[in-house]
This record gives sequence, C-alpha cells and structure tokens, in this order.
Amino acid sequence: MRLKHGACTDAGMVRVSNEDAFTAEGELFVVADGMGGHNAGEIASALAVATLRSGVRSGLRDPATLRELVQQANTAIYTASLDDSAQAGMGTTVTAMAVIPGEEPRVMVANVGDSRTYIFRGGRLDPVSVDHSYVQELVNEGIITRDEARTHPRRNIVTRALGIDRTVMVDVFTQEVRTGDRLLLCSDGLVDEVSDDDIARVLGQHSDPQECAEALVMVANTNGGRDNTTVIVVDIADDISAPVEVTPDDNDTEEFVRPAPVEVPDTGKRRRISIGMTLFWSALVAILLSVIVVMGVYGRTGYFIGFTEDDRVAIWRGRAGGVLWFNPTVDTETRLTGDDLPADILRDVVTNREFGSGVAARQYLALVEQAIVNSTTTTVDGSTVGSTTTTTGD
Ligand code: MG
Repeated sequence: MRLKHGACTDAGMVRVSNEDAFTAEGELFVVADGMGGHNAGEIASALAVATLRSGVRSGLRDPATLRELVQQANTAIYTASLDDSAQAGMGTTVTAMAVIPGEEPRVMVANVGDSRTYIFRGGRLDPVSVDHSYVQELVNEGIITRDEARTHPRRNIVTRALGIDRTVMVDVFTQEVRTGDRLLLCSDGLVDEVSDDDIARVLGQHSDPQECAEALVMVANTNGGRDNTTVIVVDIADDISAPVEVTPDDNDTEEFVRPAPVEVPDTGKRRRISIGMTLFWSALVAILLSVIVVMGVYGRTGYFIGFTEDDRVAIWRGRAGGVLWFNPTVDTETRLTGDDLPADILRDVVTNREFGSGVAARQYLALVEQAIVNSTTTTVDGSTVGSTTTTTGD
C-alpha cells in the first residue's frame, strides 16, 4: 500500500499560540489538540505525538497495540502533570491512524476526545471516529443534530482526554480502504469553522494532498479561525487489491408476487383458534401495559442535575434522556450557568449526576452555590462531589 499525504497546522486568527501537534511519518498519522494553562496544552499534545511516534518505531502490529500506545501516552502526560504544578490538569485529544500490516487493505483509527478522522470516498465524507464530547452525547440522544452541534455554546466540552486521569478508555476503529480513498485527520478548529459539506467540497477540489490540507486550513481561517487548526490528508494511492463492487444479482430482483388470500372455511376449529388468539392478544396487551406502567414509574422517579434550554443549572425530575415518552421535567432552576461552575461540578452537570431524592439534589446545589460564594473551586463536600476534572477544548 502506498500512501501520499499532506499536512498543515495553523494557530488561526485569534490565538497567539498553537497547542495542536501532529505527526505524519511513514504509515502513522496523528493529530492532537492540547489544553491547559501556561502552554501546558502544547506540552500535552507534543507528548502524545512523541509517545506514539516512538512506540511505532518499536512495532505497531494491530489495533490492540495502537490502543496500548495511546494509553502509554496518557500515562506519560498524566505523570508529567503530577511532576510539575504548572502543568497540572493538562490534557490533549488524540486521533491516530495507522495502516494494519498484512494482506488486507485496512487502517486502524484510535480516538480520545473530539479530534476526528474521516474517510472521503466517491465524493462522500463519512466520519470514522466518534467524538467524546458533550454535544456528541446530545446528538446521540437525538436532542440536537450533528450540524447544530457545530455551533452549540458547549461544543468545546470534551468528555474524554489524555492526561486527565490515571487511565483512559481508548476507542479503536478499523476501516477497509481502497485505491482513491482519502482519509482526513483534523482538530476541532476545522470542524467548528467548516461544515462537513464544505470540507467534502474542498477535498474534491484538490488532487494534491498537501494543497488540499492547506486549502482546508485556509477555509477555517477565512470562516473565523477562532481555534488552532490542524489537518492531515492521506491518499490511498496504489491499486491494493480493491474489493470487488457488489452489484445486485438479476435473479434477486424479480418482482415479488403476493400470493392470493386463501379462504378458510368457518369451522369450530377456526373459532377455537380465534378464542386462543384473543387470549394471546389480551395477555400481550396486559404485559405491554404493565411494562409501560413500570417504565413510567421508573421514568418519573429519580432526580438529576443538568442544563435547562436557556443554559441554567437545574434539578430535573425523571431520567436524563427520558424513558419511552416520559420526559424529565425541571424541578428547580438555579441562576447558575456553566460559566459559574468549577470544572468538577461542571462535569457532574454535563454528565447528569443522579440523586435519590429532590432533597439530596437541592442540598448538593446549595453546597455548590455556597462553595462558589466562598470561591472554593475544588470539592464541595469532599466525598460526593465528582473528583475527576472536566476539560474543555479551548
Ligand atoms: Mg481545538
């Protein structure tokens, strides 16, 4: 398999520094988007890229090895953040793609956070990786569309990143590839500024991968360039035993002829069947009603915290995302917004922390409000407030 690639990174039109990092070397391609104060984001993303690059040199055989490498990068960043208080809390997203050695033309893609890998084939752009972000969870629950996620005020909250916790869950995908395919790795600076349709248009306009990468960064900057943008374009250049296109067999496409209805004589047997069927349907309806009642009770019990439509922190009654058609309702709305919250509390709100009773939820928020008044930014009640840190892609 022969790969041709182009890469481009840029600080953008607003930021002074570029906390993104990338590598495009041999058959490994990585984009990392760092976060953290005092340039710590730059260190985190560089550490991720360096760890992956050195790991590949000692052999990258399969998806399991790639996952291990990303976990090693997590350990490297986490350890560095403990060793130096200026780097405390630093983290990075990562999307990494490598060829799986062997006969099969496939690539493997590892992902943590909201940097992305896409495949562009026949004019169509499809995501290979799935973001770990607050807005992706809203998309999964059908609350917002993928396009609305691009402009959502909380689009920068990532729910997973390297370096934040001692361990990290890494998603690894495999993707079959064929000659003419183009893979795109990018940081959120591209996707926040440029729609998937426009990305596809640019990918289709430039045959040279380097020109294409530069053009994509230029479009992001033209649209505002509010974040660092990094793009790698990888072309599958050689004829590599491309899979045969599957076309429908003519014999399978004959028009389906509906059989004529068969008249059943009105006999005693038929009536017994009817009584049996009636009992069957009655039992089924009874079971379904019981299930609905149980689900309804379940859907209306419990409390959790989350944002209202106008972005206020609130206590909701019910289950996050709803159960059947039993949607949660706002029990108590506070004046707090996400901007008022320390990172660990924000994480609880974003992940819809649950409470056994409305009283417990109200006590929790009262403590949060008190802690904010006292400018306490770590824990509220020590043991029960989330102890992990939510990070933002900013
Ligand atoms: Mg970014």
